[in-house]
Amino acid sequence: MTNYYIWTIGCQMNKAESERLGSYLEKLGYQATDIVEEADLIMLNSCVVRQSAENRVINKLNALKALKRSHPNLTLAVTGCLVNSDIDQIKQNFPHVDYFLKPGDYPPWLEKADLSSVLPQHPSPGTFVPIIQGCDNFCTYCIVPYRRGRERSRPTEEIVGEVKELVQRGVKEVTLLGQNVDSYGHDLPNKPDLTDLLNELNTIAGLTRLRFLTNHPKDMSPRLIEAIAYLDKVCEHISLPVQSGNNDILRAMRRGYTIEHYRQLISEIRSKIPNVALSTDIIVGFPSETETQFQQTVNLLSELRFDTIHVAAYSPRPGTIAAKELEDNIPPIEKKGRLNKIEQLQKRIATGINSRLLGRTVEILVEGKQKDKWQGRTRSGKLVFFSDNNARRGQLIKIRVEKTSPWSLQGKVELSNNN
Ligand code: SF4
Repeated sequence: MTNYYIWTIGCQMNKAESERLGSYLEKLGYQATDIVEEADLIMLNSCVVRQSAENRVINKLNALKALKRSHPNLTLAVTGCLVNSDIDQIKQNFPHVDYFLKPGDYPPWLEKADLSSVLPQHPSPGTFVPIIQGCDNFCTYCIVPYRRGRERSRPTEEIVGEVKELVQRGVKEVTLLGQNVDSYGHDLPNKPDLTDLLNELNTIAGLTRLRFLTNHPKDMSPRLIEAIAYLDKVCEHISLPVQSGNNDILRAMRRGYTIEHYRQLISEIRSKIPNVALSTDIIVGFPSETETQFQQTVNLLSELRFDTIHVAAYSPRPGTIAAKELEDNIPPIEKKGRLNKIEQLQKRIATGINSRLLGRTVEILVEGKQKDKWQGRTRSGKLVFFSDNNARRGQLIKIRVEKTSPWSLQGKVELSNNN
């Protein structure tokens, strides 16, 4: 039996692609192993969206040198966003790697495989479905369009067929993925949009929840907001990265919207979708970000009170517009201080938001067990833990919340629908 090991870091898109790649390898007779030393094939699905991610990938690759030396028959392949167009150059840096594959390319032994049609054999009750690849936006700090290319939407019928098949295999919740899901369909005949796709998916029997990531504030339409409000399976959980609370910084990032527009969008979402949970992304220490500009970001976050915030310190990505044209002039210690400030602020905000759920009953989809506790998520994306001796994976279940923290909730089973 030939063993494979896939190591994945980065976004959900990478995770979804690795899951599919694993399924395909199993179809070919490979067997998954958790022990890297026992693998005959190791695939690294990489991320370089930030310097810290790139460092992890490079450390992992260097650590595999000795293994490759002692197991010359081991096949080592790297895919994901580390792989740029200059493959000869990366080969020189990592001569022990057998294959470098651009995101979306296949190793020669999988030639012509259509990974998008290779679904996980035993998917998780909540699973990911890519709907659009690449990005046309070229935000000045972002490496993604250079590595994943221009936007390519998958045909609606193909996605609908795939989701139906996943539901047959036990899936209850689907998260649609794309770097910018709001531009879904513009490159397809008849130009369907995300709302059209959600309308179709909402009719699938057996599917109970739908989510989608990531939205772009310049592209999110009023029609989509209406659809989230009226489609019963679409969860009240929206990810809408703002990145900065200052218009000059947003302009330098080429984000294509203003804070005024963003505020208006949030207000429209909140008025149409009661109890919506919102998350956002922030970059601190973008070139020349002043203390005042940073404070405007802090003020915006205090005002809008998101359920979750993903905050990152700016790091220049070679080849991007910001790396070429803007000096990375905020000292690392200052970036770290700004990052900590936002994390502390968000901890206070999330503590307040989650504490309102104390004593309430929430419905979760049970995803699996971690140590001795079951875990699942509410429609609003809150992580919930509970203890129970029954098999609960894949069930929609009601939990009475007994404890809250900024990051998760804990509770007891109240009533099971046995769905
Ligand atoms: S929208 Fe901007 S940040 Fe997002 S993937 Fe595209 S270029 Fe990168």
